[in-house]
Amino acid sequence: MKQALQGTGVRELAMARPAVARDRSASRRANLGMVLRLLRDEGPRSRARIAEDTGLPKATVSHLIAELLDGGLVREGEAERDRGAVGRPGQAVEVDGGSVHGLGAEINVDYIGLLALNLRGEVTFERRTPLDVRAVGPEAALDAVAQLTADGMAAVHTAGGHVVGVTLATPGAVDMDAGIVKYASNIGWREVRALAGLRERLGPDTPELHLENDAKLGALAEYVLASADNVRDLVYVTGQTGVGVGIIAGGQLVRGVGGYAGEVGHLRLVPSDEPCACGRRGCWETTVGRDALLRYAAEPTDLVCDPMIDLGQRLAELRDRAQAGDPRTLTALSRIADHLAPGLALLADILNPRLLVLGGHFAFFGEHLIDAVTAQVRELVMAPDTGGCEIVLSRLGLAGTARGAALLALDAVYQDPTAVMASTEATR
Ligand SMILES: [Zn+2]
Repeated sequence: MKQALQGTGVRELAMARPAVARDRSASRRANLGMVLRLLRDEGPRSRARIAEDTGLPKATVSHLIAELLDGGLVREGEAERDRGAVGRPGQAVEVDGGSVHGLGAEINVDYIGLLALNLRGEVTFERRTPLDVRAVGPEAALDAVAQLTADGMAAVHTAGGHVVGVTLATPGAVDMDAGIVKYASNIGWREVRALAGLRERLGPDTPELHLENDAKLGALAEYVLASADNVRDLVYVTGQTGVGVGIIAGGQLVRGVGGYAGEVGHLRLVPSDEPCACGRRGCWETTVGRDALLRYAAEPTDLVCDPMIDLGQRLAELRDRAQAGDPRTLTALSRIADHLAPGLALLADILNPRLLVLGGHFAFFGEHLIDAVTAQVRELVMAPDTGGCEIVLSRLGLAGTARGAALLALDAVYQDPTAVMASTEATR
């Protein structure tokens, strides 16, 4: 186990608050959580192996698994492969929880989104709605997100599921504990009480609400995928109107003293005089962000620039043009690659990550972007072979942030499975 108990958990990663067992019931909750996290992080295994991995007595493990089975959080899997042990192979146990959901709500510059994820990792609801968030202001944006969240919760409930929590993702610096968006230049928010606003709109039956920055949640979603390959150092680069990064270093999410860690979009890295939403000129995101891509690739009247059309459709149209060899689109992507490289090289030099993951719009353009960027970064970085860092495209595309948000909401189950076990038993 060794690895599993070192805390690769989402909540530990985000908040670093280990549970302390104070009495018998607290110790039962802690043990249930430990077993469930072991199955999530290290995969299915037999009761005997769980006992071995956790150091708990076999009888205790049998009781804990029986409780988790009753609560619908684990299920019996296949017989465990022979590990050289004498005797009958044990029946493996694996994480189940198909009815247990976390919701990830996302506010971005030109859309809002919602994704429902169950404990098995299945997406059961996903929607993205175009919205000019800066123009409508915080109150109307929170109205729209509350409506989308209510729709998502209704869909989960109709299918017999249960929502354990909702995480709201926004750009900019956030105060997680107070639920306040402190400053998000691209949507024009300052000191917005986002969670209180959402709670008021959703009413008394609101599940637990959390708030976190979009790049950090994108990093978390990528980290959960990459940790299967033992990746502990990863930087996720958002491809949105704004460009920020989420940093995971040595398995820990880096927030910084005020939550501003990763705001690289406002560094001046490329000669440019383009005005930025932060009030300055020539910031990196004005040269690689979505507005730059659209400005390079199309006239303002082109349908790919129409904010009322779904962003995924517009980016897919641009990808089709690139694949068809459209010269303007290819030139635009080549400029984006040229402007991305110095920023990625800087990140590789400072942080020496194993993976640099390009999300959002970058993820749409595959071979039109990645080879050119990789070659340039390799030249710019001092360390040989880019210091062992690989630049990859996100497999989650535009859904990365919302998925990370849903994962953070679901992590409550891994910290204390008993709360959700009571509710899933009640609905069965
Ligand atoms: Zn700026």
